[in-house]
Amino acid sequence: MSRAPLAAGQRPWRAGVLGATGIVGQRLVHLLAQHPWFELAEVAASERSSGKRYADAVRWHLPEAIPDAARNLVVKDAAPPLACDFVFSGLDSSVAGPIEAAFARAGYPVVSNSKNYRMEPDVPLLIPEVNAAHLTCIPMQKKNRGFESGFLVTNPNCSTAGLVLALKPLAGAFGLEQVFVVTMQAISGAGYPGVPAMDILGNVVPFISGEEEKMESEPQKLLGAWDGARFMDATVRFSAHCNRVPVLDGHMECVSVKLKKKASAEEVREALRSFEVDAELASLPSAVRRPIVVLDEPDRPQPRRDSGAGNGMAAVVGRVRACPLLDVKFTVLSHNLVRGAAGAALLNAELLAARGLLDGKKAAKP
Ligand code: NAP
Repeated sequence: MSRAPLAAGQRPWRAGVLGATGIVGQRLVHLLAQHPWFELAEVAASERSSGKRYADAVRWHLPEAIPDAARNLVVKDAAPPLACDFVFSGLDSSVAGPIEAAFARAGYPVVSNSKNYRMEPDVPLLIPEVNAAHLTCIPMQKKNRGFESGFLVTNPNCSTAGLVLALKPLAGAFGLEQVFVVTMQAISGAGYPGVPAMDILGNVVPFISGEEEKMESEPQKLLGAWDGARFMDATVRFSAHCNRVPVLDGHMECVSVKLKKKASAEEVREALRSFEVDAELASLPSAVRRPIVVLDEPDRPQPRRDSGAGNGMAAVVGRVRACPLLDVKFTVLSHNLVRGAAGAALLNAELLAARGLLDGKKAAKP
């Protein structure tokens, strides 16, 4: 993260993290501690953690040490006000809805990982490389909900994130008709403590509650269009099978695609390999200029070897080949906690900052 320092005299945006003690929250805390634009100012969680030093409240899972910037912060209740310009939310979805709405109402931009508002008709479900134009719905959201400087922006489900990033160049070059996907999802995708060891060690669980529905609906919104008044779905037919496998981090997905315009495996590989973000996105600290990494080895990608590609922000694609049922098939891997959660939220917040959308509260700072 060495690019795009703040302009001389510009203050960093102060970030709060709701759910800072969780698996996603910890990743956010870690990424924020070294961020060139954002300063970790507040951490908040449940009443189990509130009032404790962050280092005492958190069961830290990352291999790196707890950042010094976080260690001595006192965990607050997940309720406004907090001394920050905007908040990330890594809250458990059972509580995220009303808490995130309370922050938006109190004037905070809310950058959420939770499912609660993803499919709302006035809330962007955002992958900057895929549908940055959807941010133009924010004024309507504010008007609908009576928000002033606050608003809600969400990122997709962790397995949707990598899939849709890989589908975007194919939608652009050839058009999509049908997508059939089978996932192999890591246990960190279920938060902590997640799936009991006795269920997952040496085993595969062919069911993740609500996941197939999310994978079949969220891509329609992501790949669809905002027409100035409403989101228009992308009318692609999706079928998803979701499995939990004994892998720590990294969701792997086997994908078959029917294209509108026929293309060879080589043309598909080239469309994926040459996909590049525009200059606005390339200037964001967490962005990867070419966010799709195509591997040629016949036995890659693999979660342990490849989920860190592009600092965890890449969709790693391999085994691109013809499909006898649909047109083309491939394997895609993405880091569920980075591209699928904390890194995705960070990139969303960077785009909001670059477009001046995080400045409402910042301007009011004493
Ligand atoms: P997690 O490890 O279970 O963490 C949940 C967080 O929510 C903890 O900080 C917890 O605080 C807090 N919390 C729980 N109840 C609360 C309450 N009543 N009031 C305030 N805070 C409360 O879950 P996670 O895996 O980090 O997931 C967080 C969110 O991101 C979920 O909505 C999840 O669906 C979504 N997500 C996760 C992934 C992934 O790969 N894990 C990917 C994409 C999206 P305490 O520690 O104090 O209990």
